[in-house]
Amino acid sequence: MPRCGHRSAGNVLVMGDGCLSVESVFFPGAAGVRVERVEVLADRTLLQVSSTHLSRSCPDCGLPSRRVHSRYDRRLDDRPVAGQRTVALLTVRRFFCDASTCVRRTFVEQIDGVTEPYQRASTGLRRWLHAIAAELGGRPGARLCRTLSVPAGRMRLLRHLRAPTVADQAPRVLGVDEFAFRRGRRYGTILVDVETHQVVDVLPDRTSETLAAWLRRHAGAQVVCRDRASAYTRAIKEAAPDATQVADRWHLLRNLSLAVEHVCHQHRTCLRKHAEHQQRTQTRQPTLDLLPATLIVDRIRRRHEEISRMVQTGYPISEIARRLGLDRKTVRRYRDTDLDVLLASARDRRNVPLDRFKPYLQAQFAAGCTNATELYQQIREQDFRGGYSTLSRYVRTLRDGTAVPTPNPIPNPRTISDHAPARRAVASPIR
Ligand SMILES: [Zn+2]
Repeated sequence: MPRCGHRSAGNVLVMGDGCLSVESVFFPGAAGVRVERVEVLADRTLLQVSSTHLSRSCPDCGLPSRRVHSRYDRRLDDRPVAGQRTVALLTVRRFFCDASTCVRRTFVEQIDGVTEPYQRASTGLRRWLHAIAAELGGRPGARLCRTLSVPAGRMRLLRHLRAPTVADQAPRVLGVDEFAFRRGRRYGTILVDVETHQVVDVLPDRTSETLAAWLRRHAGAQVVCRDRASAYTRAIKEAAPDATQVADRWHLLRNLSLAVEHVCHQHRTCLRKHAEHQQRTQTRQPTLDLLPATLIVDRIRRRHEEISRMVQTGYPISEIARRLGLDRKTVRRYRDTDLDVLLASARDRRNVPLDRFKPYLQAQFAAGCTNATELYQQIREQDFRGGYSTLSRYVRTLRDGTAVPTPNPIPNPRTISDHAPARRAVASPIR
């Protein structure tokens, strides 16, 4: 068939002189392939493809053979053309191997860059599927494939992700850790070369026996870095007794961090008392009589009085809560907090968006800038999103001397333990 006339169902694909051949458009980089015919159907494009070689070499002994044993048809999915699914149809030949020393009697020809043994996809499409699976994984990859008219579901994509081969020798410094296939249900063990940060192997569970068996098959680890699980310790002692066992830095730091957090949590009441005490000593006692007698203030006063009285009478918290129709936490808060602090926090609650700016406003006020409009401008520039009336109400309390300085934050156990180096230390990334 002439190069410039690839017929297809009434359409003619014309390739001019000096243009790319049709083979290099469909199978770039392939050798010994001819596209006989391109047929564009309603739902797919068919490519009739053949090999241009007269003889092929035996894959075992390498001897070329021309003697054809038989022919059969192969269908390969190929990369879509113009957004349409594309299928390559080939008639491949089975050759005899005539070498007397070769164990193989016959072999099937492959076209370089187009076919691979036992595959249902062309080499080009296989490269695509591998890239899609590696970048996106199963489900998202399958969704992209639907959009691209590539015939591949989740499982077909995942089959392209082959695990790399595992070396016979264990690395000099081996890292052992567990990981979850499914959190709380099924765990495996991951083995890492600590020096190169490469994953060496993955074991199906986290038992001592499995790790010991792996270590026996893969000798050579001089240092084994592990978490503090006794199963791993036992396996290493048993199967690699000469290796030095090292507790993983990340696990040590994490344990320290958790211990610090636990201690801080136990002392949370002390921390709160300390913060409140500091606040009281810094604050001028707010003149309670100057507070506006709103409903909330009245209610707080009344509740505080009632609860204090009942506590003194000796009622338990649950009984007080039941009688007053309150939550036990609320009763406890009233019991443990002074009235002025309760009132101050009630009043501050109205000014939440302003809280962040209060230290600044207090400093400005002390420095002599007492004009509300001016202060409003200044905090607007610092991203204050509240209204002018919120600010002017607060400035009035500064003027009256009834403003309560922003409460000292009570340190949170998590924040305290964050200051320990542990939480900041991140295990070396595994590539
Ligand atoms: Zn052979």
